[in-house]
Amino acid sequence: MLLEKAPAKINLTLDVLHKRDDGYHEVEMIMTTVDLYDQIQLTELEQDEIVIKSEKRFVPDDRRNLAFQAAEKLKEKFQIKKGVLITIRKQIPVAAGLAGGSSDAAAVLRGLNKLWGLHLSFEQLAEIGTEIGSDVAFCIYGGTALATGRGERIEKLPAPPTCWVILAKPSIGVSTKAVYGKLNTANIVHPHTSDMVSAIKEGNYEKMCKNLGNALEQVTLEMHTEVRQIKNQMLSAGADNVLMSGSGPTVFGLTQKQSRADRIYNSLRGFCEEVYVVRMLGKQISVD
Ligand code: ATP
Repeated sequence: MLLEKAPAKINLTLDVLHKRDDGYHEVEMIMTTVDLYDQIQLTELEQDEIVIKSEKRFVPDDRRNLAFQAAEKLKEKFQIKKGVLITIRKQIPVAAGLAGGSSDAAAVLRGLNKLWGLHLSFEQLAEIGTEIGSDVAFCIYGGTALATGRGERIEKLPAPPTCWVILAKPSIGVSTKAVYGKLNTANIVHPHTSDMVSAIKEGNYEKMCKNLGNALEQVTLEMHTEVRQIKNQMLSAGADNVLMSGSGPTVFGLTQKQSRADRIYNSLRGFCEEVYVVRMLGKQISVD
């Protein structure tokens, strides 16, 4: 039996450059993992099958689960005739823009690499992960990175300046596909990705706050008024800046003061059902 943590990610920036001939969008995203985790337990089974268990609603227990696909990929590629029970203790809100499913898949790839003694590098695992979803490569490494291409090309960055991150998810789920479907690439407000990269490299918190930006935010804001209400609420409670993560609907606010983090958290209770105060992890996931 083996336990593997699957951290959530947030987007400090998300830019959409254009739509490619293969149907994917060319993106530029700066992502960082935070200390909100799903716990993945991997248990070997006598029978040659993949079984998914999760007590949370909306988490599929079959091939639709990205964690199932991760195990299946490894079995197919390396002709593994062993079975595995994957138990997912979900903490990361589902369909939230926090890459919960992708992070679970990445954790299964890392975990089964150890359990089945495959000795694959993180680069090899990231390549396999990309066949499952565009965010899985980033989730293999965690930490902070600039992701380009359709999200699978990863350039590692140092840890961002230390701060509190208040995450708030309204009680709606958002489909990434639907948001991209509504995006008009001619009208995008592009974030300044290179300024965010330098803010992180310089350890400049103010510059990081100033350069938060997400090209998908406007689309989701127009679909769901709750997202704007939460943004306004966080700003009036004292967040230094607020942004939607991924395709939403989760919104995060930043502050360096714990008392202000508490105030923002308290101002959202009753207003929003899932609220968390977390830290950026900074460090990448280690190979062992
Ligand atoms: P992203 O930020 O990568 O767009 P997300 O955080 O918005 O992802 P997920 O939580 O990964 O979204 O879930 C999106 C959908 O994927 C869910 O509605 C669910 O049906 C399906 N899904 C597949 N595998 C998982 C998993 N392991 N955990 C949660 N949802 C999963």
